[in-house]
Amino acid sequence: MNEDSVPAEIELDRTSHLLVVWPDGLSAKWDIEELRLACPCAECRHRRDQGQRAIVDDGTVVAAVDAKYVGSYALGIEWSDAKCNSIYSFETLRNWAVHAAGPSASQN
Ligand SMILES: [Zn+2]
Repeated sequence: MNEDSVPAEIELDRTSHLLVVWPDGLSAKWDIEELRLACPCAECRHRRDQGQRAIVDDGTVVAAVDAKYVGSYALGIEWSDAKCNSIYSFETLRNWAVHAAGPSASQN
């Protein structure tokens, strides 16, 4: 993998946002809900392919419970509703940041 995509710093505010800073100074901040809607797990991807939303219960505020490194290539986020196993590869996060698109823009 491309080592440049490994973040220098990751800050998770469980109910608000995820902030990622890369060694070259690029940084990006995403809303927790936005991240969840872009959940890369197989089931959420399938739902988006069908034109549906990712798994989010309406009316439920989903919070991130924990974020941890998965190997040396990705960030895993555990959710308060425990419905998704979301693993965001650093490449993907970096890609979103570079294009300043945000997860929601990359769904189509
Ligand atoms: Zn999911």
